[in-house]
Amino acid sequence: KLNIGIVGLPNVGKSTIFNALTETAKAGVANYPFCTIDPNVGIVDVPDERLQKLSEISNSEKIIPATIEFVDIAGLVKGASKGEGLGNQFLSNIRNVSAIAHVVRCFEDSDVVHVEGSVNPVRDAEIIETELILADLQTVEKRIEKVLKPAKSGNKEAKFELQALEKAKDILENIQPLRTNLDKFSEEEIEYMRKTIFPLTLKPIMYVANIGEEDLPEGEDNQYVKQIKEKAEKENAPVVVLSGKVEQELIEIPKEERKELLEAYGLKEPGLNKMIRTGYNLLDLITYFTTGEKETRAWTIKKGTKAPQAAGEIHSDFERGFIAAEVINYDELIKYGSMQKAKEAGAVRIEGKDYVVQDGDVMLFRFNV
Ligand code: GDP
Repeated sequence: KLNIGIVGLPNVGKSTIFNALTETAKAGVANYPFCTIDPNVGIVDVPDERLQKLSEISNSEKIIPATIEFVDIAGLVKGASKGEGLGNQFLSNIRNVSAIAHVVRCFEDSDVVHVEGSVNPVRDAEIIETELILADLQTVEKRIEKVLKPAKSGNKEAKFELQALEKAKDILENIQPLRTNLDKFSEEEIEYMRKTIFPLTLKPIMYVANIGEEDLPEGEDNQYVKQIKEKAEKENAPVVVLSGKVEQELIEIPKEERKELLEAYGLKEPGLNKMIRTGYNLLDLITYFTTGEKETRAWTIKKGTKAPQAAGEIHSDFERGFIAAEVINYDELIKYGSMQKAKEAGAVRIEGKDYVVQDGDVMLFRFNV
C-alpha cells in the first residue's frame, strides 16, 4: 500500500492540514464508491496539469487522476516509545505507512499553545524522531534476542540477520535514524529490515513547515523555516512550506474564488498540491497515461516498472497477454498536437516487454485475451 503518515507534535497543525487535504479530496470521492471512509485516512487526487491537456487532445469525457493516501497520525508525544499517552498505538500506525510527512510548527501565535513552550521546529522534529529511534531500538533488540542463539550455532540466515541488526543497533544507540545511514548496509540488509522488522526510521520522510500567512509564499524570511531546511538538507529530505490556516481558508471558499486568494498570498497553487506531489516522489512513484474519448487517466507505478507490469495496473489480463505497447511521451505528444499527427510523423513507438516505462508516457497496450 502506498500511503503517507502525517506526524508531528500536538498543535503544530497536523489536523488542519489533513482536513484541508481530505476536503480537497471529497470532490473526487465519487471515484471510490466502495471505500469505507476511515476518518483518519484520506484518499487524495494527485494534481497533474498534464491530465487536462491530454483530455483536450483526446476530447475525453472524463479525467481520472492518480491518487495517494494520507493518514493522520495524531498523538505522538515525548515518551511515546515508553508507552506514554497512547504511544505504542501511534507508533504502530506509523509502521503501516510507506512514508512520513513530518509537520513542524514555524508560525508564531500566542493563541496556540506550544507543548514545548516555544517555537523551535528542529527541536520538535528531534523529539519525534527520538521516539521513532527508541521504538526501532526496542524492535531491533527484541529481534537480536531471537536470532542470537541460532546465529551462534551457525544458522546462516540468523547470522545474516544478526550482522544487520547489530549495525542498526549501533546507529540507533547513537540516536540516529536508519534512513540517513543506508550506506552502512548492503541492499539485501536494507531489504531484510524493511520486510522483516519494519523500522520506522527507515521510511522516507518529508518535512512540512507550517508557516503563518504573513510569511507566505515561501517563508524566506522566517528563521524557523531556514532552520528546518538546514536539518532537512543534511538528511537529503524535501521540505514543503505552506500555511495550514490558509490551506483551510482556501477549501472553505468556492472554487472560483480560490485563484484570487492564492494570488493575494503570492501563491501559484495550494501548498497542499506541493505536499501531495512531494509525497508521490518520496514513494518513488511515476505516472503514465492512457487517453481516449471515454477517459484520460493517470496510472501510478514504481519507477523502473516494465511495460507488462505497468499494463497489469490496468488489468491482470493486460499483463498476462501482453504483446507490445504503443508509446509516446507526453511532451512529444503535445508538440504534435494530436495522436493522429504524432502517428503520421512516426513519433509513436512500439515497445516490447523489456521497456521501462517513463514518467509521462502515454501508452496503448496490445494484448492477447
Ligand atoms: P495538531 O494537534 O497538530 O493536529 O494541530 P491542529 O491542526 O489541531 O492545530 C492546532 C492549532 O493551531 C489550531 O488552533 C489551528 O487553528 C492552529 N493552526 C494550524 N495551522 C496554523 C497556521 O498556519 N497559523 C496559525 N496561526 N495557526 C494555525
